Amino acid sequence: MSKLEYTPVEDVPRIHEELLRGFRSGKTKSIAYRKEQLLHLAYLIHDNKQRFREALHADLGRPYDETDFLEFSPTIGEIMDAHDGVEKWAKTERTAFNSSWFPMSPAVRKEPKGLVLIIAPFNYPLLLLLGPLGSAIAAGCAAVVKPSELVPQTSALLAELLPKYLDQDLYRLVNGAVPETTKLLELPWDHILYTGNGRVAKIVSAAAAKHLTPVTLELGGKSPVVIDPNCDVQTAARRILWGKYANAGQICIAPDYILCPRGFQDTFVAAVQRAYNEFFPAEPPSPDNMSRMITQAHAERVKKLIEGTRGTIVFGGQADIAERFVAPTLVRDVPGDDSLMSEEIFGPVLPIVPVRDVDEAIEFINSREHALSVYVFSQDSKFKAKVFNNTQSGAAVANDVSIGLRVHDAPFGGIGPSGSGSTTCKYGFLTFTHLRTTFDNPNWMDKLLMRRRYPPYATNGIKM
Ligand code: NAD
Repeated sequence: MSKLEYTPVEDVPRIHEELLRGFRSGKTKSIAYRKEQLLHLAYLIHDNKQRFREALHADLGRPYDETDFLEFSPTIGEIMDAHDGVEKWAKTERTAFNSSWFPMSPAVRKEPKGLVLIIAPFNYPLLLLLGPLGSAIAAGCAAVVKPSELVPQTSALLAELLPKYLDQDLYRLVNGAVPETTKLLELPWDHILYTGNGRVAKIVSAAAAKHLTPVTLELGGKSPVVIDPNCDVQTAARRILWGKYANAGQICIAPDYILCPRGFQDTFVAAVQRAYNEFFPAEPPSPDNMSRMITQAHAERVKKLIEGTRGTIVFGGQADIAERFVAPTLVRDVPGDDSLMSEEIFGPVLPIVPVRDVDEAIEFINSREHALSVYVFSQDSKFKAKVFNNTQSGAAVANDVSIGLRVHDAPFGGIGPSGSGSTTCKYGFLTFTHLRTTFDNPNWMDKLLMRRRYPPYATNGIKM
């Protein structure tokens, strides 16, 4: 196992300066260079899978299978998508034909913004750091990546591997906590992509504003699930329970709570109980086959939310703070102003808030901050459309949770308090790209425009 060493704060400005020089060298203009670096980035993960599995197990108690499914596949997929798409994405685009403008050959060039900063959280240390780095490389930017200090084994491994796989003139990793990140944020960047919680997002935005640096914020919130009695209840229960269980519920787009018609709650609870028995036939999940909370403080926070609930615990409820373990927990009959509804749970606890019907569910969602995602389980297209059409959120998904949200060639991002801007594939590329308009006006155009463009206006024949 590697040991995490923080980057000395006094080195941070020098790293910034060196990367700026690297960017100005023009190396990243070449698409072939970008593709080569993207391949190296994919191999960084591919060659070291077992070491990453072990590091993520040490940091998050993650079962190896979860790392394979939720981290390796989407991260390598996203990087390879950038590798395969960059040639097309980076092509200068001609504007649509317009009789006034076409002689000037207007076009939109896709130019790298420059030197960018990517700050990642603990919950997906590879996907949320290396995915955006892939986008920055594809766009032709130089980049500093800052992993979370809460995953020391993974961050140390990344610090060891990054210099072996990527060009150090252009791409560097800075490890550290608040002082190191604060130093990074004092410097002028051409773009900052921050993924994490809203409190720190405000610090990042305020620091960026000092340099008028554009910012993309990938945040979280409480993503609701609306249940229609006309759904395949067993599939719904299985998918939702998995969404809460994976990574111990520490997923920004995890289903946070359920809005279920009162009269259907018993049926839904019985289905979730069956799914739970199916997942854990012998015994409840032990700390060995389930991810842990990232720190004891995080486990304590979720334990307090459970202790404060006025709902009825159906299963789970146990927490072992020393082991950073919180059992998958289902809570029914949860009031809208319950402790479990007071903040993003970010843990394996699923509250059910009974509602009268879909109209009350929509009203409930709209009375709260916009979520990263709204989920609906229904076989009725009118029901699904009603929820989608009458709510706002980063994404809207029917009949599944979390899994499909990094769909290739579709933007991933929040709205309002759940984030702004978007990432993944082409949209990640565009985040780090400046769309530069160009045109070239031929001299003969003056013959056409002379009378209208230049003074003396009195002689141009236009009546007042
Ligand atoms: P975290 O504690 O790992 O922090 C995220 C980053 O912010 C880290 O790199 C950390 O060093 C830095 N940071 C912390 N305090 C700072 C400070 N005072 N100044 C500057 N930088 C600071 O992770 P977290 O924020 O707890 O992550 C969980 C949150 O992130 C949840 O709300 C979750 O929903 C959200 N999230 C969003 C997405 C998304 O794509 N929208 C993905 C994952 C997580």
